[in-house]
Amino acid sequence: MSEPEYDVVVIGAGGAGLAAAVSAAERGASVIVFESEGEIGGSTQLSAGMFTAAATSVQKALGIDDSVDRFFQHYMDLNQWQLKPGLVRRFCELSGPTLEWILELGAEIPAQISTNAHMPGLTRAGVEDVWRAHVPKDQGYGLVQVLDRARRSHGVEIVLHTRVERLLVEDGRVSGVVADGVELTAGAVVVATGGLAQDPDLVGRWFPRALDAGDSLFVVAAPGSRGDHLGFGDQVDASVAGDGWGLLLPTAEFVRYHHWQAGFPPVSRVHVNGAGRRFMDEDASYAVSGGEIQLQQELHGKPVWMVFDERARRALPEGYADWTPARVLEHVASGAAVVADSVAQLADRIGVPADVLVTTVGRWNDQLPAGSDVDFERDRTLAAKGVTDSPAPIAEPPFYATRLIPAELVCTHTGLEVDTNAAVLDLHGRPVPGLFAAGEAGAGILGTRYVGGGNAVANALTIGRLAGQSAAGR
Ligand SMILES: Cc1cc2nc3c(=O)[nH]c(=O)nc-3n(C[C@H](O)[C@H](O)[C@H](O)COP(=O)(O)OP(=O)(O)OC[C@H]3O[C@@H](n4cnc5c(N)ncnc54)[C@H](O)[C@@H]3O)c2cc1C
Repeated sequence: MSEPEYDVVVIGAGGAGLAAAVSAAERGASVIVFESEGEIGGSTQLSAGMFTAAATSVQKALGIDDSVDRFFQHYMDLNQWQLKPGLVRRFCELSGPTLEWILELGAEIPAQISTNAHMPGLTRAGVEDVWRAHVPKDQGYGLVQVLDRARRSHGVEIVLHTRVERLLVEDGRVSGVVADGVELTAGAVVVATGGLAQDPDLVGRWFPRALDAGDSLFVVAAPGSRGDHLGFGDQVDASVAGDGWGLLLPTAEFVRYHHWQAGFPPVSRVHVNGAGRRFMDEDASYAVSGGEIQLQQELHGKPVWMVFDERARRALPEGYADWTPARVLEHVASGAAVVADSVAQLADRIGVPADVLVTTVGRWNDQLPAGSDVDFERDRTLAAKGVTDSPAPIAEPPFYATRLIPAELVCTHTGLEVDTNAAVLDLHGRPVPGLFAAGEAGAGILGTRYVGGGNAVANALTIGRLAGQSAAGR
């Protein structure tokens, strides 16, 4: 067989692909990257860049005691042990060193406590046993720029506007790719094409729960998230894992943008189920809130509602696409939000028992505005977000309600099953020679529950780096 043109071909220039390209080049491999879009970065570039990792220098500088074992236990428990422990342990071992690698390449994560995903430092998403969410300066964009600088310093070429069509396979071994009808041979190929969120048919097949949102469903993943990894996998009878899993964020029915653009609902609000009862900490982590809402919808066969008052509406800041004082009134006019002169009347309009909703709002008014949420401990969540003032009671008419739906599709977890070297496995569970996968395209790390904050970026960069090292074969 003649020498391949490149040691490694990487498909996709998002977080996983760039990490793979840089790490393969660091090991002396000749590497080329194909990117279907006109710019690099994919969903990674759109993200907050939050990166979950254990036992890092940032944690140590803040005096946070963490370990791989602790991270592993938390990760497996949150995912109800539905993932392969060997792969998850490898991820937990490598995420810390990968974060240090990114810092050495130039990423900046100051050793300071951050109260949200937009403030560089160490933060939490709300379900961790210890704080592990590392927020880099300039967020996902910053991470992509750091990796791209390293990529350039190694002389790795990126070909933009070039969607890889298929793999070259010879005698069961992946030996290159076909792009724009041209064959290019390689010693190994890394599939880092992201998820499938932008392909409605694939979403229907692999993450049908997302379709429960109906017309309210909106996708914030990058345009290149078309599920091309599944086609590559088909060519080599790859095993597909993560069926039915992904991340859907709950939003008000009328929202169509990520919160950076849409804005934020008022702090003074309650979420109630079809029985008119409160059932969750309204600021619960996105790791679990979507599931909580979905469960209540199923239990009661009725929507979940967010309820707030006139004072909360008026206090909304300006400058956002959906959550501003004027926009809420527009949503009422369009029928996407409901208004009433009293809580009891609001209950009638949204179809929940009026006496129960009145009691629910009254109980909330007696608790959180007075400083403590005995039922759901929301005061603790708010404090971790840096909100120290107690919210105002929900008491000033008119009162508003809007349906709350897990409708913002962020990422999907259905990918090509990988082993502890990021090698793609076939239907027998054997590595496919010459084929590696990482990020959303590679399955096994992202599970039924999002391990926040920063599960998917950590997966992309950690397994991407591992895939590059394995593909370089050194
Ligand atoms: C708005 C938003 C915020 C988020 N915030 C966070 C966060 O803070 N922390 C976190 O952990 N996760 C977050 N996520 C999720 C996380 O960003 C992604 O899961 C992760 O970055 C995916 O990385 P990836 O490399 O697998 O895919 P991507 O970064 O999407 O890269 C895949 C690349 O492959 C390209 N491509 C696709 N098909 C082909 C083909 N056939 N040929 C060539 N190129 C192809 C795509 O165009 C894309 O550039 C967020 C996601 C979004 C959308």
